[in-house]
Amino acid sequence: MPPAQEVFIGLGCNMGDCRANLRFALEGLAALPGYRPVALSSLYRTAPVGKTDQADFYNAVAHGKYEGPPLELLTGLQALEQARGRERRERWGPRTLDLDLLLFGQEILALPGLEVPHPRLAERVFVLAPLAEIAPDYILPRWGLSAGELLERLPAEEKACQEAKRIKWE
Ligand code: ATP
Ligand code: CA
Ligand code: CA
Repeated sequence: MPPAQEVFIGLGCNMGDCRANLRFALEGLAALPGYRPVALSSLYRTAPVGKTDQADFYNAVAHGKYEGPPLELLTGLQALEQARGRERRERWGPRTLDLDLLLFGQEILALPGLEVPHPRLAERVFVLAPLAEIAPDYILPRWGLSAGELLERLPAEEKACQEAKRIKWE
């Protein structure tokens, strides 16, 4: 068995009871074989940009240790999305539950169906802000920078229109 890897998972929702959906995901994650929770960020709420007639987005990042292959973890995440989300996805559209594998240790992978680090991570305040909160010193592969440093590199207008409000889980 390879050593446990530091993994970071992005959680997202903007449909249904988001707190309940995200809690379901966290409980499901903790129960995945090989996964051990380490830390959880605050909840972040982001108003939709552009298409404003949809609900706010709720996002968080979970830090865990994982013993097993990356594709197996992705399969576990997709099973949780299906259990909570995919049924509604057809009726109500996407975002009931979105679980993205953001980082798998220092690995850089481009497999069919799995790219890590998540390719759009460095553009997204709702990912970088919670990541900087729980792992301020973690250096991200590919960029060689921390989440906070990546956040600083985003243009000010980008940060303004992606404003993510840190809120409580309760
Ligand atoms: P985005 O990836 O921009 O956040 P999304 O989360 O809405 O968009 P999905 O429809 O949830 O995209 O996923 C599309 C595909 O992305 C999935 O079928 C999955 O195989 C693939 N994928 C590639 N890399 C990853 C990753 N790191 N984490 C999760 N899914 C990934
Ligand atoms: Ca996503
Ligand atoms: Ca996804």
